[in-house]
Amino acid sequence: MRTVAVLGAGPAGLAAAHAALAAGAHVVVLDEGERIGGQFWRHHDRLTRPGLQHQWARFTRLRDTLDTAAAAGAASVLTSTSVWHVEVSDGVRLHTLTGPADAAGRPGRTIVADALVLATGAHDRALPVPGWTLPGVTTAGAAQALAKRDGVTLGRRTVVAGTGPFLLPVAASLLRCGSAVPAVIEAAAPTAIATAWGRAPWRFAALPGKAAELAEYAGLMARHRTGYRTSRAVTRIHGTAAVEAVTVQRVDRDWHPIAGTDEIIECDAVALGHGFTPRLEAAVQSGCALTAAGFVGVDDAQATSVPGVYAAGEIIGIAGADAALAEGVIAGFAAAGGDAASDRVRGARRLRRRMRDFARRLDAHAIGAGWTDWVEPDTIVCRCESVRRAVLDEYADASTRGLRLATRAGLGACQGRTCGRSVEDLLGRPIGFQQRPVLASLRIGELADLHAPVHPTHPTEQTEQEQR
Ligand SMILES: Cc1cc2nc3c(=O)[nH]c(=O)nc-3n(C[C@H](O)[C@H](O)[C@H](O)COP(=O)(O)OP(=O)(O)OC[C@H]3O[C@@H](n4cnc5c(N)ncnc54)[C@H](O)[C@@H]3O)c2cc1C
Repeated sequence: MRTVAVLGAGPAGLAAAHAALAAGAHVVVLDEGERIGGQFWRHHDRLTRPGLQHQWARFTRLRDTLDTAAAAGAASVLTSTSVWHVEVSDGVRLHTLTGPADAAGRPGRTIVADALVLATGAHDRALPVPGWTLPGVTTAGAAQALAKRDGVTLGRRTVVAGTGPFLLPVAASLLRCGSAVPAVIEAAAPTAIATAWGRAPWRFAALPGKAAELAEYAGLMARHRTGYRTSRAVTRIHGTAAVEAVTVQRVDRDWHPIAGTDEIIECDAVALGHGFTPRLEAAVQSGCALTAAGFVGVDDAQATSVPGVYAAGEIIGIAGADAALAEGVIAGFAAAGGDAASDRVRGARRLRRRMRDFARRLDAHAIGAGWTDWVEPDTIVCRCESVRRAVLDEYADASTRGLRLATRAGLGACQGRTCGRSVEDLLGRPIGFQQRPVLASLRIGELADLHAPVHPTHPTEQTEQEQR
């Protein structure tokens, strides 16, 4: 029987696992999260508040199918399991550690499979702003995760700022969890938004659930008097021990702040969301070719440039959970040996086509080059290593290696996941932060201890010792 490993248990990975099982494969699903569901279905054991989860019935169906398959021995679901290294040659080997990220003595295990579906998703991105290191500032995704998983908010009055439709569910979740949201600050221009989202409205209306979702957010924001302010950006966050207020400025089409348009909004929390950065490390390590836009390149069967490796979800383009689900179905089916052109995945192909239309509309929210104007010399850009803009400027002409060693930008705990693209924007050149021999944080001691015996739970799993 063919074994398909699925890296990532968000919408894309769960749909892939489901389709691969239906096509007769044995499936191993791996995710570093405590629970399956990924970012979209982040949750606690019980749902904290009504209205926070979308398409929850779909999630429970996918979860139940996996549980049934696992009970029958057709699937293994490995949560709290970080894949820290991928090898692709004559099959796939995924090197893993299981346990909480900061725990000691996590057992290591290698998963051996015939094919791999990469569904590692994306990080949400927040652009540096003076004052963004104050307590009370989070990414919009972190605010959303706190709300969805724990039903809590960081502040009592939260400004949501950045760009893109993701700001709306974040504002809605914060309102549902009890925070006031005085305003959603959107940097894109109203004309750009109207052109992108008003184009071919029948196609938008045909996207499953999207119009209803939009109406739900608009209604909730109207009831709570939350303003939606376009062509504006938070350009400074004020406070001494924690957030006290933000400066909002008008920005031009390229996001250059316009002098004399400052306005202060009082708040005790800020959620910043400037789009998403694909988690490409596993794909890069597997040798997958990337597109010019910096995503994993795939063909119609979701196959990457590496034989036996498929990709789905946010790593092939930012298009939302429905696109991830459709791509996951095709990827899982093809990875299990199915023909991606067959009628069995026709519905998924149709949904994928429709969601590409949705993705094109997101172009209206592309980050404008002018954002770097609001970053001051003493603004911290790399938070892990406290690297300020002035230090980056000082070493701007150094080699990539020289720049990284001299400034330490991107060398801290997050390994450039948070700051990498912003550092690249400020320098105007790539610094290679997505090329890592080790994909997940692990202790030196864990590497050294990998000879410790661990009992495999399935023939596709080997301990590091057995491989020698
Ligand atoms: C913080 C955050 C919150 C979001 N909230 C929403 C929301 O509320 N509503 C909405 O419409 N969209 C939301 N999005 C966008 C949403 O994530 C996508 O539309 C959708 O979830 C993408 O699905 P995916 O399967 O591609 O990726 P994800 O759902 O991100 O799943 C990827 C999974 O891969 C796992 N993974 C990655 N690398 C490894 C590794 N090396 N080892 C083990 N596991 C690994 C991750 O733990 C994760 O569970 C959010 C995005 C982020 C970043």
